[in-house]
Amino acid sequence: MAIQAVLFDLGNTLIDFESEPAATLHRRAEDAVQRRLVQLRDATVPGGDTFRAHFARAWAVVEERHRADLGQPALAEAIGEVLAALGIPASPEEVAALEAAHYEVIRAQIRPYPEAGRVLECVRRRGLGMALVSNTIWPAAFHRADLAALGWDRTFEPAIFSRDFGRRKPHPSIFRAALERLAVAPGEAVVVGDRAEADIEGARNVGCRAVLKLHPFTRPADPAGVAADAVIERLDELLDWLDRN
Ligand SMILES: [Mg+2]
Repeated sequence: MAIQAVLFDLGNTLIDFESEPAATLHRRAEDAVQRRLVQLRDATVPGGDTFRAHFARAWAVVEERHRADLGQPALAEAIGEVLAALGIPASPEEVAALEAAHYEVIRAQIRPYPEAGRVLECVRRRGLGMALVSNTIWPAAFHRADLAALGWDRTFEPAIFSRDFGRRKPHPSIFRAALERLAVAPGEAVVVGDRAEADIEGARNVGCRAVLKLHPFTRPADPAGVAADAVIERLDELLDWLDRN
């Protein structure tokens, strides 16, 4: 079957999302949450390693909560756990402000790949369907704002974010939701992403083809051992693969 649609991952596929390893990036983002919390409540809030330890425990709780059903652990839930541990009540608006403080650190360092715009335009001109299927701990609205800033807010139909969808890749339902909206069969679609399990195994399990786009920080130890139809270093190599499929 010829390829009729491309399901793109967002982070590290279309946009370089990690200019430094996720652990150090998230540590800086968590420090920003602590500073915003101090501003919001005008209260003494333990900082540094103490605050980060609360965050680490919160993530462990939230990840466990969603492990079995591949639900999406949300930053808001983790923040809620941190605040509960500190005995600080917070309104939903305050939690949203803390999430925004966290994402500001991430947003400040994200960079679209220079070739991404051209690749998207080439895929569109070929008449292929284009969807976005993204796993994220942040509200989808943050990413939709980034897409709009890049002029990509009408590029993907649909654009599905796990945080809103409720399930994350590799859960089959998130891929099937995209395929249904695109009105294509799994065998007519290719998933492009940087995560071996979420993107490649997830795609293969629903019957899609899969292209692994390598990123220095998420690169599998043995890319050749991943069951992908192709492994690419740069996004524009996807066009060559599409020529042959
Ligand atoms: Mg990714």
